[in-house]
Amino acid sequence: MLPKRILDYGKSGNVIREISEYGKKRAKEIGPENLYDFSIGNPSVPTPQKVTDSLIHLLQTLPPQQLHAYTAAPGDPGVRQQVADYLNRQYGRHCSGAGIYLTAGAAAALAICLTALVNPAEEVLLPAPFFSEYTVYTEQAGGVPVIVPCREPDFQLDLAAIEKAITPKTRVLLLNSPNNPAGVVFSREILTRLAGLLTRKSQEYGEPIYLLSDEPYRELAYDGVEVPYIPNLYPNTLVCNSFSKCLSLAGERLGYVLVPDQVENSGDVYAAVCGAGRALGYINVSSLFQFALPECLGLTADLSVYAENRKLLVNALREYGYEMPAPDGAFYLYVKALEPDDMAFCKKAREYELLLVPGQAFYYPGYVRVAYCLDTDTIRRALPAFQKLAKAYGK
Ligand code: PLP
Repeated sequence: MLPKRILDYGKSGNVIREISEYGKKRAKEIGPENLYDFSIGNPSVPTPQKVTDSLIHLLQTLPPQQLHAYTAAPGDPGVRQQVADYLNRQYGRHCSGAGIYLTAGAAAALAICLTALVNPAEEVLLPAPFFSEYTVYTEQAGGVPVIVPCREPDFQLDLAAIEKAITPKTRVLLLNSPNNPAGVVFSREILTRLAGLLTRKSQEYGEPIYLLSDEPYRELAYDGVEVPYIPNLYPNTLVCNSFSKCLSLAGERLGYVLVPDQVENSGDVYAAVCGAGRALGYINVSSLFQFALPECLGLTADLSVYAENRKLLVNALREYGYEMPAPDGAFYLYVKALEPDDMAFCKKAREYELLLVPGQAFYYPGYVRVAYCLDTDTIRRALPAFQKLAKAYGK
């Protein structure tokens, strides 16, 4: 007999990908120009030319024994040191190359960290709404997901609810800012108070509660809003990051885990990260992309397209009567559904060829996610559909 939980993961699939697949089919039926697919967070702006040039240069110049060969399991030591040097320059000194583990995107980084940190039956706090794969990685690590809704209407962390949810079994709090799907950036003030709470609770129970900071949208913040660097606020923080969104490299699978030096017992925590990578078979990210990485650090794709889309969409949607928390980051809006059932609302939206993702997929129903990482022309053309949808609900 096949393992039931794993079989269920495979059979239930991912809601967002299912909607996106429907979108592909529907686009063939009615023409892509008549469909407004806001379902998937696939970056739409091109990868910077420098990344492409660097890849071509490496293909032409690296000796074959190095180009396609195995590297060390956590990644090439020289490349890891350059990543650490970059982070130290950006955020203050916190790490060495020996604290970096290169991964196939933030997804693998998260699965590795949860496997490294969580013992069977220990609890992982997940402020909701959140990227739905968090529960899968937590359960696969043997942990128990504990969902703690954010507060309304601003979708900042609900510290009173987090405090209530912490038990002696709490091992990790998993944070994502800028947030998918809420588009919210957690404020310095709330993160500082969270750090105080986690420190107090860690001392009370005599075991560290780790903060796992999932940061693939770090570079996507608008109107000068600050995205605080969490290791500077709470020492027992591990960072999971990737180049999927900021460099439009989602399909290439490149990211990292950072275990800063300041983490309690950091040598062992990093060894556990390596152990988790080994146990999961997540070793040796694509060597070509590893060697291109030093050239990419600090670069971003042209993110101004998302800023423009955001402005257009937020202004229009508010005018039509939609509500949402402050859309300060990532490339998502979390719009309050115009009826209590977000699934029914998404179904209604399809009548106007609008593809939205129900909040249930992010463990926070009553809202829908609008991914605006599209070309600006599509956003403009979609506005009348949003308006008609609002009018259908008497707005
Ligand atoms: N974390 C969040 C919040 C995401 O939205 C995503 C992807 O959309 C990931 C992690 C996984 O990203 P990656 O492509 O780097 O694996």
